[in-house]
Amino acid sequence: MEYAMKALIIGGVAAGATAAARIRRLDEHAEITIVERGPYVSFANCGLPYHISGAIEKRSKLLVQTPEGFMSRYRVQVMLNTEAIAVNRNSKQVTVDTKTAEGSTEQALAYDVLLLAQGGTPVFPNIEGIDAPHVFKLWTIPDMDKILKHIKEQSPRNAVVIGGGFIGLETAEAFVERGLTVTIVEALDHVMPQLDAVYGRHVEDQFKERGAAVYTNAVVKKITDTAVILGNGTAIPADLVLVSAGVKPNTELAQKAGLEIGKTGGLAVDEFLRTSDPWIWAAGDMIEIESKISNAKVRIPLAGPANRQGRIAATNAVLAWHSGKSMPESMSMLTPMSYKGALGTSVIKIFDTTLASTGLSFTQAKRAGLPVREVSLIKGNHAGYYPGAEDILLTLVYNEKNGRLLGAEAFGKQGVEKRIDAVAVALHAGLTVYDLAEIDFAYAPPYSSANDPLNMAAFMAVNNLSGYSPVISMDEIETSLKNPDAVLWLDVRNYGEYAKGHIKNSLHIPVDELRDRIDEIPRDKPIYCISVGGFEGHLAVRMLKQHGFKHVKNISGGWSHLKFMRGLSIE
Ligand code: FAD
Repeated sequence: MEYAMKALIIGGVAAGATAAARIRRLDEHAEITIVERGPYVSFANCGLPYHISGAIEKRSKLLVQTPEGFMSRYRVQVMLNTEAIAVNRNSKQVTVDTKTAEGSTEQALAYDVLLLAQGGTPVFPNIEGIDAPHVFKLWTIPDMDKILKHIKEQSPRNAVVIGGGFIGLETAEAFVERGLTVTIVEALDHVMPQLDAVYGRHVEDQFKERGAAVYTNAVVKKITDTAVILGNGTAIPADLVLVSAGVKPNTELAQKAGLEIGKTGGLAVDEFLRTSDPWIWAAGDMIEIESKISNAKVRIPLAGPANRQGRIAATNAVLAWHSGKSMPESMSMLTPMSYKGALGTSVIKIFDTTLASTGLSFTQAKRAGLPVREVSLIKGNHAGYYPGAEDILLTLVYNEKNGRLLGAEAFGKQGVEKRIDAVAVALHAGLTVYDLAEIDFAYAPPYSSANDPLNMAAFMAVNNLSGYSPVISMDEIETSLKNPDAVLWLDVRNYGEYAKGHIKNSLHIPVDELRDRIDEIPRDKPIYCISVGGFEGHLAVRMLKQHGFKHVKNISGGWSHLKFMRGLSIE
């Protein structure tokens, strides 16, 4: 019989398990081995917080595959509790160490193609008390088991979550659902710090409404048996602490083997996900990739990219090994697949709300040096006259030179992720706000409006670019705040909305009274129109412009954005 390719995969969860299955679909004769240092293969790490909350009742649902399942379906050998400790690239062998109850055994495994899919490891900051038994991380099934055991046996009452990113927030929600008193501590200005501040603040509100506390710009100095102590001396009662303060890629093995590491600390790969060694490919959280929008080198530790990269790396490894030999007829139609970078599209459930984003936030786009603008609006997820409409807050980020879409963020209850997914497709295709304004989205009253919120946001962006209805964004407002009396804050919301809170010294004229009261508006200052979520502000801008007002702009996102700005005098 012909020599069978030996494919060795280090890491057996998202990217590794996908790669193994793909290799088998390509090459029925390959000898495929997964080496996994943990006790489970292909488990649903994304589901861990939901088992803690109780939403996923059965722990067994998290075990997507078993070694037996891999063997019977794919003829893949899975070595659990086995750590790859060295790669000898010359002899094409990996030394692995298997732990059993009796001790550990080392052996060398030969490979023809090696796939690294080792993921990342949560960062444990150097804080006094971080090794205490009531301090946890949530990364694996055993991590989850330990948290649940602590909850069951110690009945903790006060949980502190250090880090307000995805996993921190999902787990904080799970703790709230379990009836614990929860505090989130975030070192940066807002939770979900990769998004624009306003979205983080909406999320913080969701936690506060449910009795949780959120500390931002807060560093943890010390963890004691009963409290988490912040840098400013605040002591937060804590008998359960979750540390979720970032993830670092597992590149030690690759580094030791002399493989090239990228600028971001992720393993460097080319567009075919090949490392600096021609017979080693890599995929998932451990690698450095390109942002599809800024082309900058980034690390995007998310399950979607990891799974697709696993598939691509596997395909390329198999094709590389077979090329030059007789390529089996069954794969002769395939060519190497390139990975074109990631958008970082993501979504998170926060109680009964959803937060989603794709591409770059306004802040990220500015940091990347792009000529950027943003528009934000609030609009119902479907026609207001059909029962149950819920507001969506939506931001489009785009290039001010050519209107090309750069990203989007959205927050609300229903229909948030479908808008973000639509923008993800638009970003992938390189579309502009002009394109988005023209796209036909599915419409019937229970699902959307005849102009979908995405169309409306695109109209706003187009109107802004042309100057027909200029929009002022949050960073421009921040600049204006240095001299707030130099502008006129024209609040066009109704009386009830205005009474809930408004900018001190703003002029209040509801939009429906504006025509009749136009003489009350001074003409010697730039005018910023404040509405609930942007739409009435647009009406006001158009009205005023036609009455000869020159410097008039609509505040993007209206009061929903403004109320979160620091430095405004609100009464
Ligand atoms: P992993 O899935 O982490 O797998 C790497 C494996 O390699 C590990 O099992 C590790 O034990 C093994 N390994 C490492 N080194 C060695 C070695 N030397 N020898 C042997 N084995 C080794 N992403 C989303 O997109 N959406 C979500 O909702 C989401 N929720 C998440 C919730 C939680 C609690 C967690 C932990 C992650 C979540 N993620 C989510 C992230 C997502 O799970 C990861 O991006 C994805 O699993 C990365 O896949 P990977 O294969 O690169 O790494």
